Amino acid sequence: MPDDGSKSGVIPALGLHEVSKSFADARGRLSILDGASVSIKPGEMVALVGPSGAGKSTLLHIAGLLDRPDSGEVAIGGYACAKASDRMRTRLRRHAIGFIYQFHHLLPEFTALENISIPQRVGGQTAEVAMERGAELIEMVGLSERATHRPTALSGGEQQRIAIARALANSPLLLLADEPTGNLDPKTAGAVFEVMRTVVSETKLGALVATHNLDMARSMDRIVTLSDGQIIDVTE
Ligand code: ADP
Ligand code: MG
Repeated sequence: MPDDGSKSGVIPALGLHEVSKSFADARGRLSILDGASVSIKPGEMVALVGPSGAGKSTLLHIAGLLDRPDSGEVAIGGYACAKASDRMRTRLRRHAIGFIYQFHHLLPEFTALENISIPQRVGGQTAEVAMERGAELIEMVGLSERATHRPTALSGGEQQRIAIARALANSPLLLLADEPTGNLDPKTAGAVFEVMRTVVSETKLGALVATHNLDMARSMDRIVTLSDGQIIDVTE
């Protein structure tokens, strides 16, 4: 079973235990994950690397409860989710998990601040509370002066910082990022990464970040790689 904290005394933000997943293709079934296990502690930032097609996005989708594994367990904050009801998984996804993608997916008709407050509104918060929380978060990513701008009026790096703030709206305990700086030039990527790093250490959430950027991977707490469907810890 996933580490429930009984050994280390700390409940992992994310525990994947022997997760397997295959997809059907023209030639039959294609095994993507084959007994992948990893545990991420609160406040820990872990890089997920591996060649294109290795299964990084598949793994993040399973960790983020957007997809179910064929077998194995997924624990969010120690809560076993692989066989939980859809309703419970949706609740956990909304309240315990934040996502950042390669493309920001901000809604163009809303301002930066409104975009950040949307997850709280969807979660049932009042507009007032959601906007207050949004103001706190937009300050955390250093963009208070851009609050009323629409996404098209922001640079790529600013859009991604707003997406980071949005991912934190419901104070998740787990942050999942799928090549969050993959679409940015190196300098902007570095700045966006620093923002992510700061929020992870300030909020004590656990983060799993798929990246092709080796400098970025090396500056995280730990690097794991996907190889033949399994997760190998490659940190020296
Ligand atoms: P990565 O993010 O490391 O590039 P992915 O997780 O996106 O890898 O994909 C791993 C493999 O799984 C790829 O060969 C991809 O085509 C396949 N795959 C991913 N999702 C599906 C799906 N829903 N149906 C069929 N094949 C899929
Ligand atoms: Mg991918």
